[in-house]
Amino acid sequence: MKNKEELLADLAKENFKRRTLSFYKYVKIENPKEMRDMLFDKLSELKCLGRIYVAHEGINAQMNVPEHNWDAFNSFLQNIPEFTGVPYKFAVEEKGSSSFIKLIIKVREKIVADGLDDSTFDPANTGEYALAEEVNEMIDRGTTVIDMRNIYEAAIGHFENAKIMNVDTFREQLQKVQDMFKDKKDEEVLLYCTGGIRCEKASAWMKHNGFKNVKHIKGGIIDYAHRVKELGLPNKFKGKNFVFDERMGERVGDEIISACQICEKEKSDEYIHCKNLSCHMLFISCKKCEKNLDGYCSRICQICDKFPKKVNQLFINRNQQKHSNQYKKNYKRTNVV
Ligand SMILES: [Zn+2]
Ligand SMILES: [Zn+2]
Repeated sequence: MKNKEELLADLAKENFKRRTLSFYKYVKIENPKEMRDMLFDKLSELKCLGRIYVAHEGINAQMNVPEHNWDAFNSFLQNIPEFTGVPYKFAVEEKGSSSFIKLIIKVREKIVADGLDDSTFDPANTGEYALAEEVNEMIDRGTTVIDMRNIYEAAIGHFENAKIMNVDTFREQLQKVQDMFKDKKDEEVLLYCTGGIRCEKASAWMKHNGFKNVKHIKGGIIDYAHRVKELGLPNKFKGKNFVFDERMGERVGDEIISACQICEKEKSDEYIHCKNLSCHMLFISCKKCEKNLDGYCSRICQICDKFPKKVNQLFINRNQQKHSNQYKKNYKRTNVV
């Protein structure tokens, strides 16, 4: 097995471009293990990279495809009966380097970890879709807009006046959301997430919990950004769309809405992972602080990384909670509800 450095070196040598996309579909898959192996064989052959989850309930993929293999990929996928017609969401912004460094395809219980028991409600009873132009109108008339993503995603970019919840997981958010917005049950509510998959589940869950008028953005922030550009509409998404690949985010709005979590002064929307692998915390850093701390989140992590692994881990584990509390304080300066 190649390590990260070796994989990156291989990618650096590539003389072709890759197309980054995501897609999902809730569809009955009889044998997820078989489907997984079949996908893995073909997508490896086509040199695709990314992260794909397969479950009895469907597929969720974030990946890239070498441009010269695009047609082969497209006809392969669309010829699998379960995935015929699945819409692709293309990256809003490609970086020079590959968005993924390897191909991982996993069989999962669910394609999104939502913590819900699907037998207790009707997951197919989803809310209505809203397209970019309707989204803009809703924002203009003051509709309650709920960001169905984690706080660290919303911190670097979100819709104008969106409600951002102080949560780290989708599971936690679904437990809290119906209670937090219980006074909005009779009003129009608009949900959104990165590419739409979380809102399929969330909108059905909210309807089940008595919300009478739930809408969600079709194709999420990604499709919104494309449509706004295509139709020349005003863009009401401010900042960056957080993405779960090496790019960490794609620019949608021009402005930077977040600050460096180290100095808390410099504006930045660049996420990095702490270089100390026992910590590996995701945080926003400005260029100056990144250089100052050599890519670590703190002096502690920088110093402890020189200790033997066991000692390092012990110190870092003790510090993690403190760390993450400190960073959450910083996020609160965005508009958490
Ligand atoms: Zn800084
Ligand atoms: Zn750290």
